[in-house]
Amino acid sequence: MYHNIDFIIVGGGLAGCVLALELLNRDTNLLLVDRPLAGAASPIAAGIANPISGKRLVLEPDFDDKQAALNKFALVLEQLTGYKILVELPQTRFLNTLQSQALPKLRTIPGLQRFASENSLPDTNRENSLIISNTFRLDIQTTCRLIHNILDSTNSRITTQLDYDELVIGCENIRWRDFQSKKVIFCEGWRGILNPWFNALPFNLSKGQLLKLHQPYTQPSLSNWGQWEMQTGTERWLGATTERNYQHLNPDIEGRDLLLESLTLARKRHVTNLPSIQKAQIIKQYAGIRPATVDRKPFIGIHPSYPQVGIFNGFGGKGSLHIPRAAITFADQLLFARNNHDQARLEQLLSN
Ligand SMILES: Cc1cc2nc3c(=O)[nH]c(=O)nc-3n(C[C@H](O)[C@H](O)[C@H](O)COP(=O)(O)OP(=O)(O)OC[C@H]3O[C@@H](n4cnc5c(N)ncnc54)[C@H](O)[C@@H]3O)c2cc1C
Repeated sequence: MYHNIDFIIVGGGLAGCVLALELLNRDTNLLLVDRPLAGAASPIAAGIANPISGKRLVLEPDFDDKQAALNKFALVLEQLTGYKILVELPQTRFLNTLQSQALPKLRTIPGLQRFASENSLPDTNRENSLIISNTFRLDIQTTCRLIHNILDSTNSRITTQLDYDELVIGCENIRWRDFQSKKVIFCEGWRGILNPWFNALPFNLSKGQLLKLHQPYTQPSLSNWGQWEMQTGTERWLGATTERNYQHLNPDIEGRDLLLESLTLARKRHVTNLPSIQKAQIIKQYAGIRPATVDRKPFIGIHPSYPQVGIFNGFGGKGSLHIPRAAITFADQLLFARNNHDQARLEQLLSN
């Protein structure tokens, strides 16, 4: 006898967890299969959700919708568990010479004007920095832990690595061990490149390293000069490297030195009030792989040739902002067969 369920979700990082909560709240039965594997992003990610990002200070498309979904998701989880997982981070964005030169033009972009204002903080080089509003930090590690606990309370989580060979695809369902499910949804982060149904998708993985630092209690804040220093109120972080041609998944000395040098340079260049960091102040160094894609858009949908197999992956370095809204849209597709752009894009990518 099999346990009949609606979904098997493979991967319990932020993507798998948020999707699981969305589907649970819509009265479905599911099983989350997850094992913490090397290089996973969610156990180490900073969780910054930023309206303006990149060297060219680009405004995030559909920012209001994504932020509304993030706020709603955090509220639902906070009400279920009593934990606060989302805090606002006042952000100072320091500009390099090119960005400063482009500022008059940037100021004319209406969307940007909403979120960026001239800096009037003391002790900083005012001409070269902006205050960016609507910046938040989702505590991704606590979020995943809380959702794992919710799933554990109904025996809906198994801690093991799913082996693709164990999946048996039938006409209308898919079987794994004692479970018979309508669909399996892969949320495997960087390991999506190994998935036999989806390994043709154009992933563009990047390794990131960051440092957790000693600090006395300070107010939440984010100082961003391309790299960033984040104070959450109880923790202090310096991050993050972006490494495309990495040789291994672990933290290394090169990554640490790059971050410390970047901070030293930022202190010199921007005359900021950023505190300096000695190596002895480093509590721990972390590394993970961002499941990024070539065109920076996620892979979401059902396999065109295997209707029992789906994917929810490719959220790159912006999972906090993208995943909650994407989970709502994907749940609508899964439960009401609503087609959307994500499905059309997935089908096109897999047909190439
Ligand atoms: C250094 C760094 C800094 C970052 N900072 C930010 C930030 O400030 N803001 C932001 O929004 N995002 C940030 N990110 C990106 C963010 O981490 C990702 O967008 C998000 O966490 C991706 O979640 P995921 O669930 O898709 O993947 P992952 O977190 O990698 O989760 C995948 C999970 O699936 C499991 N798994 C895989 N295969 C199997 C299998 N066969 N069986 C069982 N389990 C399996 C893995 O072990 C893992 O638990 C950062 C990432 C890095 C590396």
